[in-house]
Amino acid sequence: MESGKKDIRSMSEAQLRDFFSSRGLGAYRGSQVHQWLWQKGASTFEEMTSLSRAVRDELDKEFFIPKARIPHCQHSSDGTIKNAIELPDGLIVESVLIPADGRTTLCVSCQVGCAMGCAFCATARLKRTRDLTAAEIYDQVLLAEAQSIEYFSRPLSNIVFMGMGEPTMNYSQVMRAIELITSDAALGMSPRRITVSTVGNARMIRRMADDGARFHLAVSLHWAIQEKRATIMPIAQSVPLDELLDSLNYWYSKTKSRVTLEYVIWKGLNDGIEDVKALIAFARRVPSKVNLIEYNDIGDERFSTASREVTRMYIDALEAAGITTVVRYSKGRDIDAACGQLAGKRENKE
Ligand code: SAH
Repeated sequence: MESGKKDIRSMSEAQLRDFFSSRGLGAYRGSQVHQWLWQKGASTFEEMTSLSRAVRDELDKEFFIPKARIPHCQHSSDGTIKNAIELPDGLIVESVLIPADGRTTLCVSCQVGCAMGCAFCATARLKRTRDLTAAEIYDQVLLAEAQSIEYFSRPLSNIVFMGMGEPTMNYSQVMRAIELITSDAALGMSPRRITVSTVGNARMIRRMADDGARFHLAVSLHWAIQEKRATIMPIAQSVPLDELLDSLNYWYSKTKSRVTLEYVIWKGLNDGIEDVKALIAFARRVPSKVNLIEYNDIGDERFSTASREVTRMYIDALEAAGITTVVRYSKGRDIDAACGQLAGKRENKE
């Protein structure tokens, strides 16, 4: 951190306009600076060539522009790219760029580590160190946008908040990042191309609906039997499935957007017929679709991937029940970039 100087990216466009008008420099310059910062991704005041030298020097005296960078990235044999993202204070998170079917999806992180404690997730082992700022989330997007053009010759098409962290536990910064990503004054991406995934924080699902969310919502369900879910996901101890379901119906009533139910099938755990039946019963009680995610090994003997036959049994039963089902095969496994494997392996070592 640069001592005495203020992080200019913590200021809204209105605050920037106030800053300039209070100095008699014209409020419009605030909007210009905002555009340099968020639309053009400027890293220095020097680059802001539409401002006079005197104004640039003045800004440089009062502010600094902390930015995330990519000290290294790994390329998977399937095209997936995993980025180590170094934050201005040296902490590391990860983002993953996934090319598939003409689209490029970016999976972003919103916290360093995670406090949710899901037994099957590598990020949970890091605990939570701190929340990311909106700018740090946004930087992951800008950096990935450049990579997408470089490697796949197309801009990013989708963003999923499925990296490290629980978006609802860093709500204001995640919402500000989404505002920037979707704002015409910054990236201008449609909110329909953004998915926020939550562990199942019912109170915050209602809050997002009340706040007029226009993005998609995904919920990590993984088990539709209350007592069983509570053994692998601590959130279920405070938010029972009925309460989760009510919040999802509330979400739908406000947004008219179907919820995605994320579900991993584990051998010997949720691979029985009663588990499928419970999932079907749950999915029937809220407008939703099911996303079956392949388990990615994190080296815990309690969890192992269910067989192909069990996955087939799930798909057949769900489809017979009229529930839209998508199977998401893992990407980037060879570089530990798949769901639940993000843990900043190399860097945040104790
Ligand atoms: N905190 C958010 C986003 C986390 S990760 C949430 O809980 O939804 C995105 C998805 O990956 C979640 O559905 C999560 O449950 C799943 N996941 C976690 N660990 C996994 C693993 N080892 N294999 C496959 N999916 C995993």
